[in-house]
Amino acid sequence: MTLQIEIVPILSDNYVYLVRDQASGRVACIDPGEAAPVLAAAEEKGWEIDTILITHHHGDHVGGVATIKAAKGATVIGPGGDSQPIPGLDQSVADGDVVDFGDERLAVIGVYGHTAGHITFHARHEGALFAGDALFSIGCGRLFEGTAADMWPGLRRLRDLPDETRVYCGHEYTASNVAFALSIDGQNAELQRYAGLVAMLRSEGVPTVPANLGLEKKINPFLRAEDPDFAQIHGFKDRDAVDFFAFIRAGKDAF
Ligand SMILES: [Zn+2]
Repeated sequence: MTLQIEIVPILSDNYVYLVRDQASGRVACIDPGEAAPVLAAAEEKGWEIDTILITHHHGDHVGGVATIKAAKGATVIGPGGDSQPIPGLDQSVADGDVVDFGDERLAVIGVYGHTAGHITFHARHEGALFAGDALFSIGCGRLFEGTAADMWPGLRRLRDLPDETRVYCGHEYTASNVAFALSIDGQNAELQRYAGLVAMLRSEGVPTVPANLGLEKKINPFLRAEDPDFAQIHGFKDRDAVDFFAFIRAGKDAF
């Protein structure tokens, strides 16, 4: 493994990730919605944050940027093309860019719809995806600034990453996502098994992240809009995948 990854829970259900490249000792934090817990976690490990990576403009993902940047002199890298400016942005990146981070290379993958310019970071060597609010375990982000047609192509690209990819999501939403998924996919034995695991982890306060992408491909309804058997259950067998994705997203919004 090339990266050490620490989960820092903040606010009510956000996760910030502290990421250290073992070869170079460089340290990034991803989506620091608050500064104090992130700085404390880094200090405890003896890690010096030099980079701040941002997926989208929402306050619970950028609220700590100014303080961390001022304290550490860190470089802020994020989507210059989002609908609102990223505070303190030093380096604007967009879909298709690659961010060098020590021995690791972070591929920027745009997934639009939650916000207009939302990006994710794929650490290729490590096999880790920092998904922000685009993809959650058993869920995906709400469509605040786009349509199902905007979001589906991006989600599809995340779905097509290797099965062994570990997905680091922006929120701990897994338990409520599982409840919704069971309501539309109740016969899915792997989903039922995962529901039991999630209930056990959450009863002990343990994060359900990172999620395994290979499993998500089988049980996350939002990644299965092209699955003919799943589509057939809901009457979308010969319809466009975007329509089925929109149907699932609307169902979750109303759940
Ligand atoms: Zn958000």
